[in-house]
Amino acid sequence: MRKIYTFLLFALLTGCTANNQTNTIKSIQSYDQVDFENITDPATVVLFDVDETLIQPEDTYLINEHSERGLRFRQSLIQKHPKIMKMHDIGGIILDQAARPLIEKEVINKIRTLKKNNINVFAITAMNTGEYSNIGRMERWRYEHLKKLGFEGTYQNYDFYLQGFKRKPVFYKSIIATDLEDKGEVLMATLDKINLRPQKIIMFDDTLEFLYSVEKECKKRGIIFFGYHYNGAKKKDWDENVISFQAEYLIKHKKWLSDAEVKEKMRKNAL
Ligand SMILES: [Mg+2]
Repeated sequence: MRKIYTFLLFALLTGCTANNQTNTIKSIQSYDQVDFENITDPATVVLFDVDETLIQPEDTYLINEHSERGLRFRQSLIQKHPKIMKMHDIGGIILDQAARPLIEKEVINKIRTLKKNNINVFAITAMNTGEYSNIGRMERWRYEHLKKLGFEGTYQNYDFYLQGFKRKPVFYKSIIATDLEDKGEVLMATLDKINLRPQKIIMFDDTLEFLYSVEKECKKRGIIFFGYHYNGAKKKDWDENVISFQAEYLIKHKKWLSDAEVKEKMRKNAL
């Protein structure tokens, strides 16, 4: 009997793992695995998540910011420097100064191919919206950053907040920023508002839950959905020495040093 349970448990677990790769969602490591030339029906919308899908930070702390370790580090830093709770510009300084390059530079050419074929392209991010710290509107900051990297969506003239949500999702020049609201629901509200009725939605995201959310809303409307679960973001080990130096420097000088700059300063200090 026990063997049967073990087998069932195994089947259940492997079933769950295999679920990442369904008929409608495919896991990829690189955009090279997708034939962008073949996406040619103009009734298609292609969505790109931003963080860990189009771009990612370079520095070890920021890559691991949302891990247990990152949380513990912040808690101990606040204990050591209680004044940082009142330093409202710290978050803005990091957003403004830390590098967040494209994970794959080539993706810009692939997006150009889509636009050449009259495919509607949007970015969709769960990011907070509105004024933040010293950087102004988050959605504008995100737009300007992506634009510098070569990414621009189809519609450049829109800037509106979506009604009917608890938080403040926004559509800003083809960037849908959901302010942590459900991606599927915010997407559909956006499409309604701009009167776009796609027959097919293709979506790239490193978070499966967001792919499921859009797929669910597509089903309700009879829109064909295909998702790519993007796994191309790079890992970087936590480096306590670098991160501690970076954090102390940030608090003292209000400047974010990259890992490379920290290492250079540590090397000089050691001489
Ligand atoms: Mg993401």
